[in-house]
Order: sequence, then C-alpha cells, then structure tokens
Amino acid sequence: MELIIGSHVSFNGTNGLLGSVEEALSYGSNTFMFYTGAPQNTVRKEIDKDTTLKAHELMKENNIDFKNVIVHAPYIVNLANPKNMDFNINFLKQELKRIEELGFDKMVLHPGSHIGLGSEEGIKNIIFCLNQLDSKVTILLETMAGKGSECGKTFAEIKQIIDGVKSQKLGVCLDTCHLNDAGYDMSNFDKVLDEFDKIIGIDKIGCIHINDSKNVINSHKDRHENIGYGTIGFDNLIKIIYNERLKNVPKILETPYIGNDIDSKERLYPPYKFEIEMIKNKNFDNNLHEKIVKYYK
Ligand code: FE
Ligand code: FE
Ligand code: ZN
Repeated sequence: MELIIGSHVSFNGTNGLLGSVEEALSYGSNTFMFYTGAPQNTVRKEIDKDTTLKAHELMKENNIDFKNVIVHAPYIVNLANPKNMDFNINFLKQELKRIEELGFDKMVLHPGSHIGLGSEEGIKNIIFCLNQLDSKVTILLETMAGKGSECGKTFAEIKQIIDGVKSQKLGVCLDTCHLNDAGYDMSNFDKVLDEFDKIIGIDKIGCIHINDSKNVINSHKDRHENIGYGTIGFDNLIKIIYNERLKNVPKILETPYIGNDIDSKERLYPPYKFEIEMIKNKNFDNNLHEKIVKYYK
C-alpha cells in the first residue's frame, strides 16, 4: 500500500483548483488539502468550471484519488458561539455545495470555541448547528489543542458532538500537534488509537494532520513545528505515519513555512517537498532549512 500523503496547498482566484493540484504535485504529493478562500474570512469567489475540469484531468493523470482530497472550512466560523448562528450555518451550507461542485467529499472543521460559556454550552451550540446540515460531504471534526476555550480537545467531547448530530455525516480529523498539546502521549500512539477506538471508533478517522509541535505535551498552545524539529520528534511521527491501522487515511502536513535567514529578506518557502522526501526515506535531515532556502531561492 502506497502512503497517502500531501500538504496544505493554496487555492487562489486565478488558477483555482488547477493551481492547487500543480502545487501538490510539485511537492511529490498524492493528495492535498486547501481552503476554498481565505481561511480568516468568508468571502468566496465563484468556482471556475474550466480550471476545475483541467484540475480533475491532471489529478487523474497522476492517480490522485478524489476521495483523499480534503477541504478545510475557514477557521473563523465558530459554531459554539450563539451569535451569528444563522450566518455560520448558511455559510457552511454554501461551502459544502462548493466542495461538491469541486468533486470532493470531505471537509475538516474546527468544532468551535465556547468563548467563556463553558464546554457543555459550546457543544450544545455546535450540535444545534450541525443538525441543520445534511450534505453528502462528510464533515471531519478536528481534534483541538484546547487553546483558549476550544471545544473538541478530548475524544469524549468529539464523541458527544457525534452522538448529538443526526442529519449530517460526521467523522474525525486527528492532528498530531493538537493531540500532543491537548495531553495525549504521541510517543505511544497505539495506546492513543486504542483509546480513540474505545470512545469513538477508528473507522471514523477520515484524515490525519501530521505536524510536530513547538510546545510540550499538555501545553494547550497549538503551534505547529516542522517534522522532526519539535517535541514529538521524527521517530514518533514516522511511527504514526506508517501505522498499519491508519494506512488508508490521508496524511496532511500543515507545518510552518521556512524563513529565509540566509539573506535575511522576509521571504518564506514551503517545507513540504523536503518533509515528504524525509518521510518517504524515513530519514531525518537536520539541514532541512538550508536545503529549502537553497532550492527555492
Ligand atoms: Fe485545522
Ligand atoms: Fe490541523
Ligand atoms: Zn493547529
């Protein structure tokens, strides 16, 4: 079985999905994840049919399975907040339609932050909103670090949401940085998976975000680090990526871009081509930063 691996890629107004596929291929990926517009706002352009068709052709030529492609919902949509509920629900409905139009069937969503109302209240609001949806697209609830008032920082909270939603198909997106920061021990991932299986069921996992973490376990921070450069470490991440129980699950990198400290200009370069290479070779490269800057400069 070939590893299903890719990264976050951009999706912009000019090239749309075609640009995303080209970017993914330039990293040696066989899948990818994108936002259908700026993640920090809900302004969306109409989808261009022509570039979408060209993108689909390019995907087929390169054996990228449509089922492995992930769309990330904008992170400013907060379903736990009782304010703007109608707007959020309508926006998500439109977003789900756009995803179908683009030919995909998985959307990752941050459950939401309860903004001081308490987890119970937040989760109640999330469930209410998700019950207004009934898309064919599966919504994957992402496990969160527990930064601020984030809901979904434990498997129990995710399970509570899943149990409360009747109309909309749901699954889960694990994020290794978030799990670490939420207090799960990523050096013993099989034990974490056992716990997940007992509470939710491994078959619900539709995606896994592969990130190292800048912070120690249980820090509730959510700051991603490049593969092998953080507190989780290369060997632990490799064990997670190659875990037999997740072999059919797409692995998506969301590690930070590399700063150009060599010529001290403020350009940033994507690390994914080189991180994917390290992962395929199962060999850590402690010269990653220099290599990346050299390659893109
Ligand atoms: Fe996310
Ligand atoms: Fe993530
Ligand atoms: Zn994160």
